[in-house]
Amino acid sequence: MMLFMLLCSYVFIQSDPPQDYKQLREKMVTEQIEARGISHNATLQAMRQVERHLFVPFQYRRYAYDDRPVPIGFGQTVSQPYMVASMTQMLDLNKSDRVLEIGTGSGYQAAVLAEIVEHVYTIEIVKELGERSKRLLKQLNYNNIDLSIGDGYHGLTAAAPFDAIIVTAAPEKIPAPLIAQLKDEGKMIIPIGSTGETQTLKLLKKKKGKLVVQNLMPVRFVPFTRKNK
Ligand code: SAH
Repeated sequence: MMLFMLLCSYVFIQSDPPQDYKQLREKMVTEQIEARGISHNATLQAMRQVERHLFVPFQYRRYAYDDRPVPIGFGQTVSQPYMVASMTQMLDLNKSDRVLEIGTGSGYQAAVLAEIVEHVYTIEIVKELGERSKRLLKQLNYNNIDLSIGDGYHGLTAAAPFDAIIVTAAPEKIPAPLIAQLKDEGKMIIPIGSTGETQTLKLLKKKKGKLVVQNLMPVRFVPFTRKNK
């Protein structure tokens, strides 16, 4: 009997609190994203679609739709919803695009991209995070996402060139291999700067082999780390 009660309370604690996540998501999109000027239809639709609470650890689920980044373990965070939407909109994606993301983390941004484009490649340097996100994305049937574990500095030569590249951790300089793997007319969005200092979100466009760089806004991202430099 005791065991049964213990088991019941365990199941109760582990199950979802009675929250209407769809409603929270709708509120997130209207109040945090549309209200701040995001109007790209496919982006808005993707933000309405992807169940953000499934991408954050159980104990943080109640904060999943709040206007802020949420911890995902290993000292990392999933960006604030507005930042995800804003970076996605900036890439001005088409259905047929192939996109590379550096810094899979929770897999949330990859899922948002995968709702919009044909194929998403994503790279995560923390093995445990990469493995966890790979399992989740598979469970959620995101068959158009290829996740690899490794140092995203090198990009993904085998699948290059890309229509768009999105970097969700901040390096001090733009990694040269990523520039090389961008298609002509392709776009890259990347936060640049060291930790502790204000970083700058930059939008790069490749035009006839040349880079046109636009500084967008001050941001704060987790550091871009390196393995076997
Ligand atoms: N886009 C993620 C954000 C995660 S935070 C999301 O939607 O959840 C940034 C991630 O970048 C972290 O998981 C961190 O481990 C990863 N990262 C940092 N440096 C990296 C590198 N050189 N290559 C690949 N991933 C890196």
